[in-house]
Amino acid sequence: MNNQVQIAPVTESLPDFFKKTDYSKIVVIADIQTRRHCYPLVKPLLPAHTLVTVPNGEAHKNLATCEQIWDTMTKAELDRYALVLNVGGGVIGDMGGFCAAVYKRGIDFVQIPTTLLSQVDASVGGKLGIDFQGFKNHLGVFNLPRIVLIDPIFLQTLPPREIRSGFAEIIKHCLIADAAKWEEIRHKELDEQNWPDLIAHSVEVKKNVVEQDPTEKGLRKILNFGHTLGHAVETHFLGKPKGQRLLHGEAIAVGMITEGYLAHRKKMIDRQTLEQIEEFIFSIFGKVLIQSDDIGTIIELTRQDKKNRGREIRFSLLDGIGSCAFDVPVSSADMRRALEYYAG
Ligand code: NAD
Repeated sequence: MNNQVQIAPVTESLPDFFKKTDYSKIVVIADIQTRRHCYPLVKPLLPAHTLVTVPNGEAHKNLATCEQIWDTMTKAELDRYALVLNVGGGVIGDMGGFCAAVYKRGIDFVQIPTTLLSQVDASVGGKLGIDFQGFKNHLGVFNLPRIVLIDPIFLQTLPPREIRSGFAEIIKHCLIADAAKWEEIRHKELDEQNWPDLIAHSVEVKKNVVEQDPTEKGLRKILNFGHTLGHAVETHFLGKPKGQRLLHGEAIAVGMITEGYLAHRKKMIDRQTLEQIEEFIFSIFGKVLIQSDDIGTIIELTRQDKKNRGREIRFSLLDGIGSCAFDVPVSSADMRRALEYYAG
């Protein structure tokens, strides 16, 4: 699996890409926000194209929005030599890529990730998909884009809360793979971090893992550190009133602390390491209010996790800073302890 990623100004990378390729038609997919903030930067660099604008946000990463996209692709008479260009965050990348991957059994697509989260995580590794009946990424496929074009310029219009959400995945990459980088980031505040450097670092970490195990049979599972409880927390909070919902990275931050606790309970990391992780993550993200009523539902939601085999819930847990084990079975009782530890 060769994940081609280029980190460069789009003013260079996009014209360069179109010089080397010859597509019959181009469809650009954006959401309402990226149409406003990001599309104007790429529009002058593109050949003739059709633009599809979909509503923004995770709530629209679903079949109904896919139908809207497929409808436009069909009406624009896209054949198998056409290209889909996704301009947006992880929602547009996952959903637009999924739409391209199944349209006429698959046409080429290019990712232009515009959030920090999608630049450091979602656009690398070929996971595409949508949510279904309240379950995250329940329908999807593995398929690689022709290329991922990352330009940090898009971060200039991104709300600070979204920057912080993306930072969670950067923290994860440091914790599972690079102790020295963890030392570097954990002594800096959010606004002191060097984003271009950290984007390149995260892409390297993720590419390195994914290339060794593209379809998540083994090693790739380490990228799920923080995501088993994190996804369950994210899904649970999707059902809450709007003001209480969590961004992906905010839920993963909860996941990294609770799963850090599990690693400590299993004697895979010492107390001091757990406290170091906890202290930094709380300093950046604060604490999410998890009430005792929430805990049972969150545990129940881990049953839908794609890493499970049968009824056993398996976690990716740190066994040191910069190192992660996978397929570690965890009981519901331990999950409860971890969530109570976080909430307490
Ligand atoms: P998102 O795509 O919803 O973007 C967040 C918000 O920022 C949206 O409202 C969007 O319109 C807006 N936005 C995007 N770029 C902007 C810009 N440059 N300026 C101003 N506003 C902008 O969310 P996200 O955090 O990028 O991605 C989350 C999604 O990614 C989740 O669905 C998650 O499941 C998925 N994901 C996928 C993978 C993968 O490997 N495929 C990995 C991690 C996350």
